[in-house]
Amino acid sequence: MKILVKAPAKINLALDVLHKRDDGYHEVEMIMTTIDLADRLELTLLEQDQIHIISQNRYVPDDQRNLAYQAAKILKDRFQIKQGVSISIEKTIPVAAGLAGGSSDAAAALRGLNKLWNLGLSTDELAEIGSEIGSDVSFCVYGGTALAKGRGEQITELPAPPTCWVILAKPFIGVSTADVYRRLDVNKIDHPHIGAMMDALHHNDYLAVCRNVGNVLEDVTLNLHPEVAQIKDQMKRFGADAVLMSGSGPTVFGLVQHDSRMHRIYNGLRGFCDQVFAVRMLGDRNTLD
Ligand code: ATP
Repeated sequence: MKILVKAPAKINLALDVLHKRDDGYHEVEMIMTTIDLADRLELTLLEQDQIHIISQNRYVPDDQRNLAYQAAKILKDRFQIKQGVSISIEKTIPVAAGLAGGSSDAAAALRGLNKLWNLGLSTDELAEIGSEIGSDVSFCVYGGTALAKGRGEQITELPAPPTCWVILAKPFIGVSTADVYRRLDVNKIDHPHIGAMMDALHHNDYLAVCRNVGNVLEDVTLNLHPEVAQIKDQMKRFGADAVLMSGSGPTVFGLVQHDSRMHRIYNGLRGFCDQVFAVRMLGDRNTLD
């Protein structure tokens, strides 16, 4: 028996860090939305009691370091599943790019294995389990658009953003999220207006969404990798309505509404960047699977 599951990437429309906690994590407030750029997982039941990861992408670990492996392991242990599973990951989301690719693969594995192993877990229960794997996994279990608080695991659903194009451009570098957080000086933060972004979403106000994008990790990554700033400048010059780095980077996204401008930015950035995509948002939860 096998099952196919989609694992969409996310972008952060806003990312704020409030303070560093005693447990070493940062207290965050993030507004995230899923986009139509997805990995595909094929989950196949195995008779042997093993978890196999298959991926053609050389940057994706094929052992217990893979977040999809960890998702399968948690479910297997917790529910004493004796069947094994082979997880084949067709990777489209750039790796170590600020797009939560690994977290989304883990979330997709949780959703898929819940069906394959007939566990009958609710989405809330899957999100709770996901939070043990990584901070972004809970959000990826729900998908759609949400405010994420705590270390990212406290999820409140938000309305889908207004219809627009998201152009993503990733330079030839990968960024370690842990390293970026380590370098962040929480006393020197220019905080984005999370409340204003939530209002913009509630009013379906595209221009207000564009005005209120903000990410406190941007300056850290920009200082480490000046090419990220160059991509931001290019996107602005080509006419994006809003330009921001997603997560800890290095992927930069731009928002536009008109097809013609989307094509201009997309074509302008190709050749200059490692990977460029133009996609729609999947702002509603029910677009998963
Ligand atoms: P986030 O936005 O959640 O911080 P990211 O997009 O920056 O994540 P990922 O693509 O999830 O980063 O990868 C970060 C690291 O996680 C990779 O360098 C890789 O070694 C490891 N990893 C584990 N599982 C996966 C997976 N299924 N796909 C990609 N990377 C994975």
